[in-house]
Amino acid sequence: MEKWILKLPNVITIDGPVASGKSSVGLVLAKELGYIFLDTGIMYRAVTWAAIDQKIEISNEEAISNLAQQIDIEIKPPTKFDGRINDVFVDKVDVTWKLREPEVNENVSQVSRYPLVRKALTEQQREFGRMGKIVMAGRDIGTIVMPNAELKIFLKASIEERALRRYNEELKRGKQINIENVIRNVEMRDKIDSNREIAPLISAKDAVIIKTDGKDVLRVVDEILSILEN
Ligand code: C5P
Repeated sequence: MEKWILKLPNVITIDGPVASGKSSVGLVLAKELGYIFLDTGIMYRAVTWAAIDQKIEISNEEAISNLAQQIDIEIKPPTKFDGRINDVFVDKVDVTWKLREPEVNENVSQVSRYPLVRKALTEQQREFGRMGKIVMAGRDIGTIVMPNAELKIFLKASIEERALRRYNEELKRGKQINIENVIRNVEMRDKIDSNREIAPLISAKDAVIIKTDGKDVLRVVDEILSILEN
């Protein structure tokens, strides 16, 4: 991938629905440019995991909002080669794979609706953003978290392809799952994420939309690098 890019954007945002390719594309793109990669979904998952762990009802908005303001989420470079993108600690406990458990998948979109949860996490995400030379992936990064980012990407793919990707990822990790459950969870999360009042999943007006159906990660990264060359 020999490319000549004269002026690199300081912040690149990648938004899109569940399993549209944000993390895999974001990670390779960041490596290619020598940037940091931040998957902001991890933070919403961390709050959700902590709520479940502390047996807080997911419908208890006040308790979950307090939790989001109090917990310490650390995202560090990976120390194990087991497919993880980062090591994630919540209050010093390694929760990296716990964040991918079905119970977190089931509840994370509900937790992400709460305005004070979003406020707490958005502030932390902006701090990362201010470091610069960063690729940030999520749902509202181009619209709300980093609206002045110089390059915004919005990834799209059909529900069939996205569900199959998630299904294959789970199988690879040795998880026994059912494709119907995966489709149901992907559809449910997209619906809640797109319809919430605050920071819904939506493409920023100035985002470049890329469809990722049938494309491998390198092809999508190449498309993004081509945008940077022009
Ligand atoms: O990206 P991932 O699927 O891990 O995100 C988990 C959930 O976190 C999403 O379904 C969404 O509810 C929430 N999220 C969000 N805003 C972001 C990133 C993730 O609301 N910027």
